[in-house]
Amino acid sequence: MKYSPSEYEQARRELDRRRNEAEKIQKTHRDEVALKCPELVKIEQEMANAGLSVIKALGMGDDSQDFIKFLETTNLDAQKRRAELLKENGYPEDYLKVKYFCSKCNDKGFKDGFMCSCHKVLLKNIAYKKLCSQFPVDKCSFENFDLSFYPDFGSDITPHKRMSAVFSFCKNYAEDFSSRSQSILMLGETGLGKTHLSLAIAGQVIRRGFGVIYASTQNILNKLESEKFGRSDTSDTEKNLIECDLLILDDLGTEFSTQFTVSAIYNIINSRLLASKPTVISTNLTMEQLESVYTQRISSRILSEYTILQFDGTDIRQLKTR
Ligand SMILES: [Zn+2]
Repeated sequence: MKYSPSEYEQARRELDRRRNEAEKIQKTHRDEVALKCPELVKIEQEMANAGLSVIKALGMGDDSQDFIKFLETTNLDAQKRRAELLKENGYPEDYLKVKYFCSKCNDKGFKDGFMCSCHKVLLKNIAYKKLCSQFPVDKCSFENFDLSFYPDFGSDITPHKRMSAVFSFCKNYAEDFSSRSQSILMLGETGLGKTHLSLAIAGQVIRRGFGVIYASTQNILNKLESEKFGRSDTSDTEKNLIECDLLILDDLGTEFSTQFTVSAIYNIINSRLLASKPTVISTNLTMEQLESVYTQRISSRILSEYTILQFDGTDIRQLKTR
């Protein structure tokens, strides 16, 4: 995939941000520990000095072997003492380590002269973002999904019970996501949280280092149509839709249906199934309505290969304004 200079620049800024953030957190931890247990800071300093001495000694030749051995033993003792002190003060063992987003390249983006996989995923997601620009991927998370909006009375399986199960399913799906994950169809009327939960999945899967495209079906079809008829300066939308690790199609069935849209949707769904790539689709239509809009060929493909999640409840947007 080819990227523009501004996309490389964006990726570099994000890498800098991740690295600074990780180092800032580590510094806060250090300052906190320094107040509570100054001895720990002293040990850290001694270990750093020992490291420098080893480097110096390595330059001295063979006579320094004993000295290096001595430093190594000292260092091991210091490590042990540090672990004990952290535990005594109630800190986890890695509390003073910098926790980089990517431990392979320490958020530098390159390792041994080659571009790190985290950097490649970052570039991909920046390019994909052009298709997701209207969605607040950062605003909808599992943490701010409010199950209390779903009524817990009436039938045996109340909307609250059903939605608690749907919520857990989506959360586990995002946490365990892999390139072999299943595809999901979210069914239910407007305002029941389908977009919120699929955005939460997108956010979590992106944070876990996968390339994700999140887009409204209408928007994607517009783009595909412009590219097909030469009205656009890009031409890689279809390729990206089929190749990304996770494709999330919001609001299937609300677009204006033509022969072009039906065959474009079939092509995307089918190509991804053939390549065993997971797709999440949300729709306000019922299965029967989907079939009448998209032909039986598409709906039976979805029905047999996708996990169906039925959303339930009362329009939350209306409840929130009340
Ligand atoms: Zn990396």
